[in-house]
Amino acid sequence: MQDRFGHRISYLRVSITDRCNERCVYCMPRELQEWLPHGEVLNYDEMTRLVRIGADLGVSKVRVTGGEPLTRRGILQFFRQLSRIERIRDIGISTNGTLLAKRTETGRTIAEELADLRVKNVNVSLDSLDRDIYAAVTGRDALPQTLAGLRSAQQAGFTQIRLNTVMIRGKNEESFGDLVRFARQEGFLIRFIELMPVTTSDVLSDENFCPVAEAKRRLEAELGPLIPEPDFRTNGPALYYRFRDFPQRIGFIGALTNLHFCETCNKLRLTCDGKLRPCLGNHLEFDIKTPLRQGATDEDLQRFFLQVVDRKPEQHDFRFNYQPGRKMVAIGG
Ligand code: SAM
Ligand code: SF4
Repeated sequence: MQDRFGHRISYLRVSITDRCNERCVYCMPRELQEWLPHGEVLNYDEMTRLVRIGADLGVSKVRVTGGEPLTRRGILQFFRQLSRIERIRDIGISTNGTLLAKRTETGRTIAEELADLRVKNVNVSLDSLDRDIYAAVTGRDALPQTLAGLRSAQQAGFTQIRLNTVMIRGKNEESFGDLVRFARQEGFLIRFIELMPVTTSDVLSDENFCPVAEAKRRLEAELGPLIPEPDFRTNGPALYYRFRDFPQRIGFIGALTNLHFCETCNKLRLTCDGKLRPCLGNHLEFDIKTPLRQGATDEDLQRFFLQVVDRKPEQHDFRFNYQPGRKMVAIGG
């Protein structure tokens, strides 16, 4: 699948729930939550079918996200279904980590069960190692659970464990250096992400937006000069650096300040309420649930995918795309 601007789509990010056990300031609105009714959320068979259709069209990598994907009941069943789609060579999950150490009825941790189901890489959100700051950002005092989750992930033997840190000026910038040292000590890759105005427009203000350049200056003052590594890339838009005097690689996801951010985009998103979304930073999304539930054939759905890819914009439009009521948790970060 290729769009009009030469983006080749090989990566599908699937949000499986809008529910979450945390309340991150940049992701969830403050007011009382109203979750989507169950009937509006795709069931696992519907999601699996759409992933298979994507795979037939060239998708080889899937990342399961949310909301918090590990809060959805029967989640391992979904991963089992995904693991049977041969063309999907790379299965990953984005999680806040709080439930990775939880034991299933077999006595094994969720992390171990996932690793057995061909899940290769795990992205864990971690904005601070300071318990109070963690709680202030996520709305939950769950740092110990997240750290236990990371330990379980290490024991489960995933190919890669990455930490994702959203940068919020005035909240967690004091934590950046400690997070890098922790990543070094535990063998994780860490990426620092610029705040994106997805859920509420005022989350992005001059006061709380910390650009990559500022984080870099702060880290260089603490840990020494950063050397760009232009040849190192993962499957996303992060740009990587290593410290000259400290043996650790770090990534920056400069959604708002990197003007080349969208050039190598290979992504399509499926939201938990059954919309195909060609770009996180653009409000365009297309309802595939209706045709799916009205008996569309695989060929019809393939055509739908291709039409959506054809509408993929050249670039994101974050600054102008805030939509009241459309939450990051439902779209899937
Ligand atoms: N609950 C899981 C988690 O926290 O990793 C998966 C879903 S979460 C929406 C996926 C990623 O999006 C997380 O790394 C989170 O930090 C990031 N994210 C959420 N809202 C964001 C925002 N407004 N700006 C930048 N990143 C955001
Ligand atoms: Fe939940 Fe993840 Fe959003 Fe935080 S970023 S509220 S953990 S979905």
